[in-house]
Amino acid sequence: MTEHPGPSKHPGPSEYDGPSEYVIAVDVGGTSIKGAVVNRAMRQVARLRLPTPRGEGPRAVVDAVAEVLRRLAEHAPGAAAGVVVPGIVDEPSQHALYSAALGWRDLPLAALLSEVTGLSVTLGHDVRAGGMAEARLGAARGADDVLFCAVGTGISAALLLDGRPVSGQGYAGELGHVLTDPAGTACACGGCGCLEAVASAAAIAAAYGARSGRAVTGAAQVAELKAAGDRGAEEVWNRAVTALAMALTSSVSLLSPQVIVMGGGLCEAGELLLGPLRQQLEQRLTFHRRPTVVRAALGDQAGCLGAGLLAWETEEGASEPAACTVACGGAQ
Ligand SMILES: [Zn+2]
Repeated sequence: MTEHPGPSKHPGPSEYDGPSEYVIAVDVGGTSIKGAVVNRAMRQVARLRLPTPRGEGPRAVVDAVAEVLRRLAEHAPGAAAGVVVPGIVDEPSQHALYSAALGWRDLPLAALLSEVTGLSVTLGHDVRAGGMAEARLGAARGADDVLFCAVGTGISAALLLDGRPVSGQGYAGELGHVLTDPAGTACACGGCGCLEAVASAAAIAAAYGARSGRAVTGAAQVAELKAAGDRGAEEVWNRAVTALAMALTSSVSLLSPQVIVMGGGLCEAGELLLGPLRQQLEQRLTFHRRPTVVRAALGDQAGCLGAGLLAWETEEGASEPAACTVACGGAQ
């Protein structure tokens, strides 16, 4: 276990005025469970990270999430909690419907966690929560129409339209499975030619490996090779950027976001990705309202901060936190 002090110092119980001054936020990922106690200014005043025991089955993951909640609740007794998870999440029923990474199906997760911890738990989706955090606190702050696009091992998106999150009972935002090449590569979803099969970090690394016969550590290495003038890397990279631009062009036609926030591991490549993406998007758009394309500001803390926003909404009946300043210690 690692328990991180907050950005200033680890608070003692005497520094808390009462449960209503804090919420507990937990982001459950495939490799780690990130938790924090979050105050009204959205500052993370205590943090805890545990590994996700996904090899031990879904029950072990639920137990580990409960453990994180319990340990954080020691610092903020009785605080409401927000928990965000990957996969398909139905917010109205508070069920985690499906997660390939964590192995659960139709799990009444909020009720289960409430039962074992005694806390009020609100369940949400990691990417939708991350998108909400970027819209309220981060790179798209102030915008009402936002597309948050997370490109990592997979690709998924979160939508905020007219200031409201769009979830489609958990099924909206699957940008990774938008068709970009009917004759393209088979996708893990069972389809063919999906964006994710070409432009996810995993697909980029695999495509370069297959083409060159050289194993690479990941998409970051392909980006480095491209920057160094490797022709194969450039072709693989350009194919991914073109597919992303096609999918985003369709998204702009359908949804007209003011801001497209690009997040996830692949966006560590910065302008190597965003530069050509903006350029291709500009070439493809005609009558459309032009979106700005920006890099996410909250890094890997977006999901956790989004979980905090969810908890505050539950705590305060959908009212916003008193101050929406980003104070997450540099999104470490
Ligand atoms: Zn697919």
